[in-house]
Amino acid sequence: MRLVLLGAPASGKGTQAAVLCDTLGVPKISTGDMLRAALAAGTALGKEAEKFMSAGALVPDSVVIGLVDERIALPDCAKGFILDGFPRTVPQADALAAVLAKKSTPLDAVVQIDVPRELLMERATLRRTDKRTGQIYHLKYNPPPREAELEHRADDREETVTKRLDQYDAMTAALLPHYTALGLLRRVDGVGTPQEITGRIKHALGRE
Ligand code: AMP
Repeated sequence: MRLVLLGAPASGKGTQAAVLCDTLGVPKISTGDMLRAALAAGTALGKEAEKFMSAGALVPDSVVIGLVDERIALPDCAKGFILDGFPRTVPQADALAAVLAKKSTPLDAVVQIDVPRELLMERATLRRTDKRTGQIYHLKYNPPPREAELEHRADDREETVTKRLDQYDAMTAALLPHYTALGLLRRVDGVGTPQEITGRIKHALGRE
């Protein structure tokens, strides 16, 4: 199963990606993680990417396309993969399609987890991490124990969340019609428990 998973910040995409990788037995490929690893390793590519990442800008298409091309050629992708954070632009989507066409292994689906903006905002701005354990809580839906030492991630603050959601909308404005036209897009209601949403994704993929 070769999938692209789309979802705004705080949409539950990370949770669903982990569950799906497990049940489908395929790796998750996250260009954000790969770029951060390159940066941490101090490679030339990492240093080049850092200029863009620290400015909150997209890394050039050629860089991320090269990374994904190499990654999906590795043996663990033989059964498929879940792409997270890639493609972000239509040229990236076209480059991915070209790479996959060469191997005669086209994408099976693009799943978008839909969550209303007000709820995304509430999830992110009320999210807190216990500094001691790393456990994530939600002040309304999953309140922390009294002894927790709470931390509010800088990128979960309201202004930053608004900016990240705007960026996500701008990105998908072109990608969603692109994948709709190709008949690949499956939209899944992302409001509910993680289990309910996993069930909906499997249903959308015909994998119940
Ligand atoms: P993420 O963890 O997916 O939010 O990615 C972190 C940062 O890495 C982004 O803000 C971009 O600077 C860069 N990045 C990750 N994936 C891509 C992509 N597909 N295209 C361009 N830049 C990317």
